[in-house]
Amino acid sequence: MKCPFCGGLDDQVIDTRPNDLSSLIRRRRECGECKKRYTTYERVEETPLMVVKSDSRREPFNAKKLQSGISLACQKRPISMDAVERIVSEVEHELQDYLMEVPSKVIGEKVLKKLWDVDLVAYIRFASVYRQFADIDTFMEELKKLKKEHVRQQRTKLERKPLSA
Ligand SMILES: [Zn+2]
Repeated sequence: MKCPFCGGLDDQVIDTRPNDLSSLIRRRRECGECKKRYTTYERVEETPLMVVKSDSRREPFNAKKLQSGISLACQKRPISMDAVERIVSEVEHELQDYLMEVPSKVIGEKVLKKLWDVDLVAYIRFASVYRQFADIDTFMEELKKLKKEHVRQQRTKLERKPLSA
């Protein structure tokens, strides 16, 4: 476990007890480096994180599935498999904040945030699947918004660049 205070990796478990929610284990830990104490909650392995879909159906989180979804959006774009894998593992890491369930929307938005910095076309493709635009007008609206935002970002980037002598 990484210490939330100093980032040290040398910790000692001083107390372990199952949580009331039974599928979680609560551990009191002490950092071997800064000696501060903190609590971690861990899922027991048989109870995977459940993804709650928009129609309230639930299915276990599946990194492979997420990866193939992102790969599909990145098809024929200059994006390496490494970059795709990095997005998946970053998202997976961020999902540690969710102990039992996570809305699929949260996952989708996290992926979009990362794709935004990687490739705009992949972003739009992924958004069109995840957000399931009701009709072509909504989609065009979103595109316009994106384009505006993109131009604005480019401009800020240019303005930030120091003038060469
Ligand atoms: Zn520490």
